[in-house]
Amino acid sequence: MALDYHGADFRQVAPLKVDAVAELLGSEICIRGRLETRLEACCDRCLGPVIIPVEQEFNLFYRPVSTIAREEEVELPEDELGVGFFSGDGIELADVVTEQVILALPMKVVCRTDCRGLCPVCGANLNIEKCGCLPAKEDSPFSSLKEG
Ligand SMILES: [Zn+2]
Ligand SMILES: [Zn+2]
Repeated sequence: MALDYHGADFRQVAPLKVDAVAELLGSEICIRGRLETRLEACCDRCLGPVIIPVEQEFNLFYRPVSTIAREEEVELPEDELGVGFFSGDGIELADVVTEQVILALPMKVVCRTDCRGLCPVCGANLNIEKCGCLPAKEDSPFSSLKEG
């Protein structure tokens, strides 16, 4: 399955495996399953490539949009905030899966926890080389502690 991630800043580097079952419960559609793939994104610090294994389980409910139109005001109970809506004939599984892949991504992508990032002065990758620039002390939240 090839997904369209709408210009997101990562790309899929392994085949996407999806096991999903869609069930019709009254007028609602229930989609359950899990997906597995690998994505490549850029490290937030050094911009190097980072492989992110993705494993996501999902259990989703969708209601036809027409049910909102009929009930003037719809107040969803707390536990139903995860309910989505669909219009027309049903739901594109690809859309559901794309959303789940994006949800599975970490907020912050770093190639490794101690990534040194790029030198703010010359742009050198500090994981690979030591540039001659002065260390940017203000980048560290602890620098003020050390200096007293
Ligand atoms: Zn990095
Ligand atoms: Zn530098």
